[in-house]
Amino acid sequence: MRITLSDLDLRLRRTFRISRAALDVASNVLVALGHRGLTGLGECHPSDYYGEDRPLVRRALEVLGGWLAGQPDVAPPFDAIGDLLDALPPEVKAVRGALAAFDIALHDLVGQLAGKPLWELFGIEHPAAPVTSYTIGIAPLADMQDHVREAERYPILKIKLGTDRDAETLEAIRAVTDRTLRVDANAAWSVEQAIERIRALEPYGIEFVEQPIPPGDIAGLRRIRAAVSLPIFVDESVTTSADIPALAGAVDGINIKLGKSGGLREARRMIQLARSLGLKIMLGCYVESSVAITAAAHLSPLADYADLDGNLLIANDPYEGVTVDAAGHLVLPDRPGLGLRPREG
Ligand code: MG
Repeated sequence: MRITLSDLDLRLRRTFRISRAALDVASNVLVALGHRGLTGLGECHPSDYYGEDRPLVRRALEVLGGWLAGQPDVAPPFDAIGDLLDALPPEVKAVRGALAAFDIALHDLVGQLAGKPLWELFGIEHPAAPVTSYTIGIAPLADMQDHVREAERYPILKIKLGTDRDAETLEAIRAVTDRTLRVDANAAWSVEQAIERIRALEPYGIEFVEQPIPPGDIAGLRRIRAAVSLPIFVDESVTTSADIPALAGAVDGINIKLGKSGGLREARRMIQLARSLGLKIMLGCYVESSVAITAAAHLSPLADYADLDGNLLIANDPYEGVTVDAAGHLVLPDRPGLGLRPREG
């Protein structure tokens, strides 16, 4: 197996603004894993929140490429993907974006060699995938209303909050839509603010609230959950399965992202563990092309909620894979592996 890297600059259709940052171009990394004439594709969006950037991810993947060159030239069977990932050099495994991009490419390649779509290899018989939410970033209220109207075909919206006008934002959004709304504060509130603001949001018919406070304060999450009636999900508070046990009972659910977990293999472990502890599961994403979004979508029938819209927010997606049907459901490819093909036109 031989690895090739390329930069993937994804242009946002609109500036993507959350409580702590704004993005016009996502500086992602694409991995191509070649073997016997087949190519597995993987991708990551290096997350500055977790201290990663493109040069760091590329360096880790170059180390990985050198390590692979010294290994026997065989692709593992599906059941042995984990053994290969466990054997990677520690400095590679420490960079979650690099690990995710390689893990996705490896799954794609192994699925192609097996001639089966990944969802089937994951033991999913009928790929009934959830409806994905579509994210409305922070902007002047009139722009957010325009964006909501433009996103008419998506039945669930995730509204980014975490400014000093959160209630006005929801009032403005509710004035133009009666669709299902989720909100995400991206760690912007204190515990006291969260309790006050979530109570103020309750009349607007919100499905759940994501990451009210900064990670690290599990007692604070418990206090919030006890004080409000809306379900509480965490995103920034959970990266891998090691973070999950302490969250049981403190929150209602967790947002799993391949870019945080380091790929599909760890995400599957997280799903199993979260289920066993009674936590709801959302599959989320970064601003990513159809490569990484389709990878996450192959797991989405195992999740309660999906927020896999990164590819819908960009203007230059080079691939097509998962699609969204007229009712907003994710539709998984039934081609082998990820089931990607180059986007035409
Ligand atoms: Mg989030």
